[in-house]
Amino acid sequence: MTTDPVPSPPATHRLFVNGGWRQGGDGSYPVVNPSTEQVVGHAPEASAADVEAAVAAAREAFDSWSRTGAAERAAVLNRVADALLARNDEFVPLLQAETGATIRVASSMQVPVAAERFRRYARGALEAAVTPLAPYPVAATPLAAGGLTSAVAVRRPVGVVGCITSYNFPIVNLAGKLAPALAMGNTVVAKPAPQDPLGCLKLGEVFEDAGAPPGIFNVVTGSGAATGAALVASAEVDMISFTGSTAVGRRIAADGGHTMKRMLLELGGKGAGIVLEDADLRTAVPAIGSAWAFHSGQICTAPTRALVHESRYEEVVAGLARYAAALAVGDPLSPSTVVGPVITALHRDRIESYIAGAVAEGARLVVGGTRKEHTADSPALPGTGFYVAPTLLAEVTPRMAVAREEVFGPVVVVIPFRDEEEAVAIANSTDFGLYDYVFSADTARAYALAARLRTGNVGINTAQRHPETPFGGFKQSGVGRDGGSYGLSAYSELQSLVWQS
Ligand code: NAD
Repeated sequence: MTTDPVPSPPATHRLFVNGGWRQGGDGSYPVVNPSTEQVVGHAPEASAADVEAAVAAAREAFDSWSRTGAAERAAVLNRVADALLARNDEFVPLLQAETGATIRVASSMQVPVAAERFRRYARGALEAAVTPLAPYPVAATPLAAGGLTSAVAVRRPVGVVGCITSYNFPIVNLAGKLAPALAMGNTVVAKPAPQDPLGCLKLGEVFEDAGAPPGIFNVVTGSGAATGAALVASAEVDMISFTGSTAVGRRIAADGGHTMKRMLLELGGKGAGIVLEDADLRTAVPAIGSAWAFHSGQICTAPTRALVHESRYEEVVAGLARYAAALAVGDPLSPSTVVGPVITALHRDRIESYIAGAVAEGARLVVGGTRKEHTADSPALPGTGFYVAPTLLAEVTPRMAVAREEVFGPVVVVIPFRDEEEAVAIANSTDFGLYDYVFSADTARAYALAARLRTGNVGINTAQRHPETPFGGFKQSGVGRDGGSYGLSAYSELQSLVWQS
């Protein structure tokens, strides 16, 4: 049986605004553990006035923070990293409970990764922000003297940044925005996902511990339609940095256009894992299997479409079926569990309807399937929670909804191709372009194939990441790039300074 590590009765949290704690003006709502279905805590519903207060605090703090030297900004970020790590034991159970992540993912993938982002961008704050340009000779005119015109391009902070994030990795997603934004001298109002906002609110305590200046980081929680939309509508917010679905990203781009906000949009994906005829399946199968094994498939970069050369099709289907069937599904608190629940009952139902729809359209259900079949087959599952078994669908065609739309759960489809032309055509046939993968013994061939993929990232014989790469999407997977030094560029405006000598 699962034991809920969060004390009862669940606490009601407050908003973090201007370095202090504020009651949400529109009440509060329960945050539910996706595994136990118990209430973990209550999060405030920020009212329009709360959002306004948070934005005003960030605007006021911007004046001094943007003029604070890079070394001092770096020192604050390093102190935030230290304070976050010092509270690791408080964060892990809270984040585990509100996200439903396995204890392995909750302990290794949240606090350490977020702390590393603060440290990375503390170093970034110290990187040169000035690019000198070659002097330019100017002839004298009756109105102005001639001489040499010199210039530099300087990176300046954008201003107040609204960071609106998705539920899958709450503080990692937020730290990936907050750290570079603060490093560049911006101030932030964060709006975490409504399903799991408590860890992000707790980051306020970390900023208090670190002695960060009030107002540089504020957190407002609540629904996207009210709290998120108020942040996007505010004329005092200069930029929105968003991670979430393509549908909501489109809406934010349209709404934020009225005030000409800068936009960084990290949106959905429908990754293709292309298995060429010469691929080593000992590499390809576990890499594609990460689409199930990593956070129950709630990963935007997951290779959820296995595109397989027809000569290897049955072999790959069998290999993936064995891989999926071996994954331990169940209580996320058990160290042996690999696949835990998905975030809500609504999301589970949505995933199940994609599976049922694919089967109705003629796909073959190889492994997994509906919740009912799953529970009967898996006595290790607790009696509560929003579980979907790792599911493999074969005989899928590129036109099926399950092959075109983002499912965001533990579902992989396998589609055969005849030759590279067809593989490229299928890979590029969705609206998304976030992360594809190529598996081949011939790396030169894989590089050449990557050039034809309309996607922001390509993994060649690996599903591992590199933290310094620019990260973002082609097509409707997003606008802009973050990651590494690209993150600093994303949170800055270029200003030219010109003088004559
Ligand atoms: P979502 O789009 O439903 O919600 C994301 C955030 O937007 C939430 O905080 C939500 O409250 C807010 N929101 C909703 N409507 C809004 C509105 N009208 N105005 C302002 N804010 C609004 O996404 P989700 O279900 O939380 O996360 C899953 C999605 O996130 C998937 O599509 C996944 O691919 C994507 N994602 C992308 C990346 C990436 O880096 N590209 C990373 C993680 C997740």
